[in-house]
Amino acid sequence: MPSHDSTLEEIKGRIDIVEMISDYVHLKKSGQNWKGLCPFHTEKTPSFMVSPAKQIFHCFGCGSGGDIFTFLTKYESLTFPEALSMLAKRAGVTLKVSQKSAVQAGEKETLLNMHKDAADFFRQSLTANGKAAAYLKDRGIDRKSLDDFGIGYSPKSWNGLLNHLSRKGYKPEMIKKSGLVVQGNKGQYDTFRDRIMFPIHDLKGDVVAFGGRSMDGSEPKYLNSPETPIFNKGRVLYGLALAKDSIKKNGNALFMEGYLDVIAAHMFGFTHAVAALGTALTPDHGRLIKRFVEDVIIVFDSDQAGIKASKRAAGVLLESGLEVNMLSVPENEDPDSFLRINGKEAFEELLKEPVSVIDFFVKHGGKKHIVADEVFEIVAKIPNEILQEDYITSLSEKIHVDEERVRERFKKKRKLLKSGHKRQQPEIKFRKPRQRPQNEIYFIQLLLQMSGRVDEISGKINLDDFEDPVLRGIFEKIVNGSHDFSDLLLKCEGEEKDILISISLRDELEEPEKVLSDCISWIKENKRKKLVKELQSKIREAESKNDLALLKKLQTEFQKLLK
Ligand SMILES: [Zn+2]
Repeated sequence: MPSHDSTLEEIKGRIDIVEMISDYVHLKKSGQNWKGLCPFHTEKTPSFMVSPAKQIFHCFGCGSGGDIFTFLTKYESLTFPEALSMLAKRAGVTLKVSQKSAVQAGEKETLLNMHKDAADFFRQSLTANGKAAAYLKDRGIDRKSLDDFGIGYSPKSWNGLLNHLSRKGYKPEMIKKSGLVVQGNKGQYDTFRDRIMFPIHDLKGDVVAFGGRSMDGSEPKYLNSPETPIFNKGRVLYGLALAKDSIKKNGNALFMEGYLDVIAAHMFGFTHAVAALGTALTPDHGRLIKRFVEDVIIVFDSDQAGIKASKRAAGVLLESGLEVNMLSVPENEDPDSFLRINGKEAFEELLKEPVSVIDFFVKHGGKKHIVADEVFEIVAKIPNEILQEDYITSLSEKIHVDEERVRERFKKKRKLLKSGHKRQQPEIKFRKPRQRPQNEIYFIQLLLQMSGRVDEISGKINLDDFEDPVLRGIFEKIVNGSHDFSDLLLKCEGEEKDILISISLRDELEEPEKVLSDCISWIKENKRKKLVKELQSKIREAESKNDLALLKKLQTEFQKLLK
């Protein structure tokens, strides 16, 4: 399929892998490559590498690796056609019809299209409904924010959206899957009725769900889409698609409680604000933020419920390994109302002085031992033990209790918490990479490094000189004409692909000629030793069977080998 290959190459040529992966992983420059924490396994020191020169990634911890397509299919759990469609869109490449129809069959793509159509429908309904428009105006939301966040209105009707989607040609079973309709006794009806609609976007900016807010105080105040094949609420943060660049630029993220807080923050220029959806904040959300930045500031409501939620959020975000600080808006206000009443400068002043987690717990806690117990519980979950120590020291200072006593108590508490913890989170073990013959690895590396001389170099080694079957497989593909790295990568799969990528990420070899001749003689010598061993055991066998004719033949071969 040459046309298919060339489309892939065109897409790859237009998308820089470092830029693309940076949307998901916080990368730092390291020599010729970029480094970050692997998104495919849990680790504390980065072993995930991205090579701009080769346009590939590889994790030395868990062995995953590949190109932009591999990354996306793996990260977003997409099928290849889905990833292809997404990357084609990003690259501005038009897919041929046959590729497109394969893509359209993809369920996720259909659900995404449906959500986009639903969002358009809600927007149009907002223009048509004076009450909803007035409500939003009353809340101080300007035109630009309406557009930026795609805010809309779901009509007071049982089947407004359902009919709209049916007319667009979506099949009933797909509409049901989207969660936008509910199955009742008499048939399907719209999930969201007479609500202000906040589209929830994934990182790429596609609508994957909605949050609907009631205007008249009817319960529930907020109604969110159920989980669907495109929506996992633990992996989505409200506003993140809009905020991610600003978060990187600011070096921190503002973590808020509600949609309206985030919208107000962005409206006043604090475009690094995000919120979890409802109360379901999980360590996954923390890891999501961690792809962009290490620091977060929690800015919740200042009422009792808000303080309780802040404490819980601090624990969860610390558990994800983030640096956490807190901001207290003055009593009985939320960030939304604070901004509207006091303005941008006042909020900037607040932001200059975030309080530490310990200070927050001390300020909003009861007696010393209660504060201590509360703090112990969240500090015990911090993955870094040195950081834990820092928190304990700070706690003992703030509650004026001898550090040793606090530490002793903490250790006891931690042990208790840990024993309760273990069963929930089984440690993931990784297969240790198999030891492979270094010289064969070097030989492949040299072939890649001196790709212009492949024919000459590869002639010096036979296929069966290779001891390692995976490396032999790669060598065979090179010998058969895949001299170019990206071509070779396309042909390799599984272990071959992994090892090829890890080889290609090595630094260039110095004195390649010398290494080459060393490698060749080592590989030859290794092969000869292997043959000698094999012959020796055959000779022993012939001796035991007293097969003199065979013995003679083997001994001649043996003499030849030793020369
Ligand atoms: Zn990994």
